[in-house]
Amino acid sequence: MCSIIGYSGKLNLAAPLLVDSLKKMEYRGYDSVGIATLNNGNIMVSKGVGKVAEVDKELNLNRLPGQIGIGHTRWATHGGVNDKNAHPHYSCTSNIAVVHNGIIENYHELKTELANEGHIFKSQTDSEVIAHLLEKYSRISNNDIKKTMIETCKNLKGSFAFVAVFDNGIISGARFDEPLIIGISSQALFLSSDVLGFLKHTDKSIFLDNGDIVILENDNYTIFDDSGNVVQRPLTQVAWELGSSEKGKFAHYTLKEIHEQTSTLLKPLNDSNDFATFCEYLQRASNIYITGSGTSYNSGLLGKLLLSKYARKKSEVYMSSEFQYFSDTIEPNSVVIAISQSGETADVLHSVKKAKETGAKIVSIVNIPTSSLARMSDSYVTLNCGPEIGVAATKSFMSQLMILYKIVSTLSNQYVSLEGSELKNLQNLISKVLGLDDKIRNLINSLDSNIKDIYILGRSIHYPIALEGSLKIKELAYIHAEGIAAGELKHGPLALIDQESVVIVINPVDETHLDVISSANEIKSRGAYIIGLSNLRNEVYDAFIELPKVADYLYPVIEIIPLQLMSYYLAIKKQVDPDYPRNLAKSVTVK
Ligand code: GLU
Repeated sequence: MCSIIGYSGKLNLAAPLLVDSLKKMEYRGYDSVGIATLNNGNIMVSKGVGKVAEVDKELNLNRLPGQIGIGHTRWATHGGVNDKNAHPHYSCTSNIAVVHNGIIENYHELKTELANEGHIFKSQTDSEVIAHLLEKYSRISNNDIKKTMIETCKNLKGSFAFVAVFDNGIISGARFDEPLIIGISSQALFLSSDVLGFLKHTDKSIFLDNGDIVILENDNYTIFDDSGNVVQRPLTQVAWELGSSEKGKFAHYTLKEIHEQTSTLLKPLNDSNDFATFCEYLQRASNIYITGSGTSYNSGLLGKLLLSKYARKKSEVYMSSEFQYFSDTIEPNSVVIAISQSGETADVLHSVKKAKETGAKIVSIVNIPTSSLARMSDSYVTLNCGPEIGVAATKSFMSQLMILYKIVSTLSNQYVSLEGSELKNLQNLISKVLGLDDKIRNLINSLDSNIKDIYILGRSIHYPIALEGSLKIKELAYIHAEGIAAGELKHGPLALIDQESVVIVINPVDETHLDVISSANEIKSRGAYIIGLSNLRNEVYDAFIELPKVADYLYPVIEIIPLQLMSYYLAIKKQVDPDYPRNLAKSVTVK
């Protein structure tokens, strides 16, 4: 859930490189930051609470001397957010420092054992046990780093990746269910959670397998498995576009990524990589399951509704964190569609692992083709929407929808049509809706500053968009928001509505339109403020955002944009950073 980086090379001093890499990967976790460098045989650590730029400004991280080093941005799981718990963590004699991503499940037992042996702990984190275990086994093995790493990993339970720097000039890392990638240039070696950590310097990378341990020593790297056998892993060339992650003219990545949707929309449709095979799996399947977390779950839910309505294909959709409890009921000849932007979401990977054990085939929709999910799938298609740095998913949601439409189009024998001219038209309409940016900002600014609750109503295929819109508002603006299937209002939620409530109704003119108008009237009589999202005005709306007309099945693609912009401007109005919502991280690699 955090980013880790290790650097060994001749490019430059380590510290500025490490700080720069951490800035690029900060989306993965950003409550505290730290680096350790090796200078004249001494490991120096500097760390503190805050975002990379803030801590760097305060502590001058990038001035730490030394040619090799490690770095970390944290997303706390064990131990509060404070300087002591920030990584890197030292061993007792400060001859080793470690950065860790993930959770050490047996840290409590290990900590008690190590403390009884005389190790002194300085933090409340689970991670610190790694530094002390490394210290213990390097003593026992007389500084044999390979043996030290193997013995340490043998003792650790949980999902983790870590990188350690040793005072003899070696950097070593291990990957167990959390990502770790080697970046290789002629002058330097990197170990990083994400290619963004080194893509500025090299596009040559090696994606470590689970259970791999790697040692970087000068210009050389050696990879071995957890029994110590040297293994070879293929060299991959990473697409440079993945690294293009500047904000450009936009104030925030989130706003830039919302506006990018006009161009990213069509990209997954052109990427034919494996699409036919992907669909063949679905065509042959007796049962289809869909799984994802957060935004990816919402797109999965829409996928299920579209498959059923337009392709007459039944499927079941599960949140990945829940799916594991039902995987033993997966019938033979099942296919699971797993959706994850990063392809590293722990809940998704875990549920997919469980589904695979039942013999189910896995087809996945990911943004990162080299991700763990893509690699464990029988077939995958990529979103191809470039790096999404804003922690709240925006353009990746749109791209997931486009792939789901393409699947539905294939399985419905083109009933859902995605012909060239229609797509061009859709692209124009999306630009048009993005052109409502100013209007939406003004609308949000006109609302009361103390809104406590926002409800979003939608029926049928608009309901997943109501869920996704409310998720965006929660994530970006920290306002309680709920997506409600409009027909369910009278079965409970109507009791919540009063003069303080803001209700957004998603209501294009289709088979759901009149029923949603009735719900809006019921709400109106309770005094709530109603914002209508529709292609047809109605007097029940206090404010109106006009949607262009499209084929009924395509409305969800259009509807989500005003909701994304509203969430963004609610965050701005509240003066919170939309790119880095509190308590969240983009790639949730812990269960
Ligand atoms: N479990 C560790 C901690 O709480 C690492 C969390 C992370 O991946 O950032 O410090």
